[in-house]
Amino acid sequence: MNHRDHSKLICDISELTTLFTDTGNLDSLLQKIVEMIALHMNADVCSVYLYYDESDELVLKATRGLQADSIGRVRLKLGEGLTGKALQELRPVCEGDARAHPSFRLFTGIGEERFCSFLAVPILRGQNRIGVMTLQSERKDHFTAEDVNIFRAVTSQLANTIEMAKLLMSIEKPSASEQKTAPRVSSLKFVKGRSGAEGFAMGEAVVVALPSLDDMAFAGGDQPLTLADLHGAVLKTEQQLEALQREIETKLFDVASLIFSAQILMLKDQAMLGAMEALIAGGDLPQAAVRRVVAQYVARFDKMPNAFLREKRYDVIDVGRRLLENLVGARSVERQYSGKIVIARELLPSDALKLSTQGVLGVVLLSGGVTSHVAVLARSLNIPLIIADEEGLLSLSPRAVILLDGEQGNLYVDPDQAVVKTFRDKEDLRKDSVKFRRNVKDRTVTRDGTAVHILANINLLGDLAVAKDYKAEGVGLYRTEFPFIVRSDFPTEEEQYVIYRKLVEAMKGRPITFRTLDIGGDKVLSYYDYAKEANPFLGLRSIRFSLRHKDIFAQQIRAILRAGVISPVRLMFPMIGSLDDLYAARAVVGECAAQLSAAGIPHLSSPEIGVMIELPSAVEMADELAREAAFFSVGTNDLVQYILAVDRTNEKVADLYVPHHPSVLRALKRVADAAIRHRKDISICGDMAHHPRYMAFLLGIGVRSLSLDARYIPKVQERILSIDIPSARKAAASLLECSSLSAVEKELALEYPLA
Ligand code: PEP
Ligand code: MG
Repeated sequence: MNHRDHSKLICDISELTTLFTDTGNLDSLLQKIVEMIALHMNADVCSVYLYYDESDELVLKATRGLQADSIGRVRLKLGEGLTGKALQELRPVCEGDARAHPSFRLFTGIGEERFCSFLAVPILRGQNRIGVMTLQSERKDHFTAEDVNIFRAVTSQLANTIEMAKLLMSIEKPSASEQKTAPRVSSLKFVKGRSGAEGFAMGEAVVVALPSLDDMAFAGGDQPLTLADLHGAVLKTEQQLEALQREIETKLFDVASLIFSAQILMLKDQAMLGAMEALIAGGDLPQAAVRRVVAQYVARFDKMPNAFLREKRYDVIDVGRRLLENLVGARSVERQYSGKIVIARELLPSDALKLSTQGVLGVVLLSGGVTSHVAVLARSLNIPLIIADEEGLLSLSPRAVILLDGEQGNLYVDPDQAVVKTFRDKEDLRKDSVKFRRNVKDRTVTRDGTAVHILANINLLGDLAVAKDYKAEGVGLYRTEFPFIVRSDFPTEEEQYVIYRKLVEAMKGRPITFRTLDIGGDKVLSYYDYAKEANPFLGLRSIRFSLRHKDIFAQQIRAILRAGVISPVRLMFPMIGSLDDLYAARAVVGECAAQLSAAGIPHLSSPEIGVMIELPSAVEMADELAREAAFFSVGTNDLVQYILAVDRTNEKVADLYVPHHPSVLRALKRVADAAIRHRKDISICGDMAHHPRYMAFLLGIGVRSLSLDARYIPKVQERILSIDIPSARKAAASLLECSSLSAVEKELALEYPLA
């Protein structure tokens, strides 16, 4: 076994990004991948095979260590040899002496005879077979169990990139012609929406719901550009994208992934560039050639059978725009998202990440709720976001200027000077008050001296800096699913461990509560083949998913327990509905700890285990759950949704989503009583925890711990300082007596008048 620091390649996107530099085309990219991995894994051979459904064949596409002329010649059927077996069975195959294995298939004339140890891992996106990566060594028993884990992790990080390369390599020469649709123009002036992430922004609107090739049409006019100009623009575009990819790595280590790789690969694709060159040779101007080829590629992607691949049309358009910008000069085509306000029907979390890196000022969505996960992410990324169900926004004129008021959820189109001035003043005030508010105190106490613990919700590791800035006492909710959402496959245990370790190290011993994977609902994974669900929020979501996929669950638990060695962490399970759920999930933790012990891997053997109270069934079972669990954390975002049967992401019923509905208040009281009776901690980690108007009620029913987006800490702390516990108890008692929403609202207004 070598002593190279394998973990460097895991999640070290900047290292992987270097793959793209100096790579001339897609073949040479694959070659660079195998060179890099062979070096890091201390292997004599590293090869990549791509799998083609149509012929049911794996084809060797790049190798370091086997003879170069074997590339393209070595072909294996699915299940054939150890390589084919790894792909057929969708699992790694590791042999200390492969030649002795009955499935081994020796190819003569490629220099394979002298290698003994063999390791193959499938390259997958979910269950989609993309190919196989193999390692070989002359030494017997060279690859260890740890090598298998590392190799899987690295391969999983590269899977998206390899899939995209494969797709581009196999794309036929397109023939579609440019499409043109007349732009529709809307005459909206003001839209009342709802705030998803606070802040103000003003800039030109870009509608991305229907990204249009027309936007590219005006670029460049008839400037007499040449082939050399095109080559210059390609180079510049590549450099810009590589720089963006590096930038996202420093800002967003945990979710950076290789999210610009699809665009970089398109530029490396000789077929795409070749098609542009051929048009130029035939007399087209380069700017026209770019537009035509991009349109042809978009048409090709639109025909893809798989939704994930169809989405790549946006990447093609992005690349086309950037290329034109560099070709015709920045004055003719402006930067696409920098300084702009994006309007979209909906966005994926990975889109929000991209937009943030590209300098977007604000986002307007037509659908989704304020507690939807894109909104949660926008807050972490500091992008003001509003949700406004107004179709006319999708047809705003391309030059319309929007003023977005993320505080009130309002949107002004081409605002007049007076409106702009009001907002500039407000923004100045806000900046001042942010500075002022940073004078938060280390500890939060009520007016009569009762301590209230304020912890932070962390979605991205980048939130940690904000949490520290605002003096959060720890992390009350770490939403572990975000690194899962942007990847191409479930992150391996090693990948997760690297991320979790960073979090634990950064918190330097302060308490951290890990919430286990909470996907499903509005958090869908591109690589998981969900059986179509009519009601995803009532479907295979959250702990139900984890318990149905114990292998994925166990990988996460092991990674958390390993990170818990640095300093103890707490674990909690989302969407628990019964004691049985808790027992089943807890049993997995026990099994994982036993596995780690047996393997001699240092870990935290018995973390405190709590449950999230998010379901009406959990409210009913609160007493028993409180007896069994170490603590409660109330996820009010879901609790409200499920008690009131109001979809938290459906803008059309947003007015019915009311956290202070009497039924919710009474449920919270029952849950708090149960926790207190059993002397267990109870904390609130949904959005109710950051609304000053609910503070008196929450303290009044006995809550002493809150976990919230750290940006709200100053406001919440300020409110708590003004409350004394006896009056909070009285306020809570009056609210609990209210039998109607209107009565609750009257009481609340008396207690904490809204401005
Ligand atoms: C909640 O439901 O309130 C919660 C904190 O979890 P999430 O918003 O991630 O569903
Ligand atoms: Mg929840």
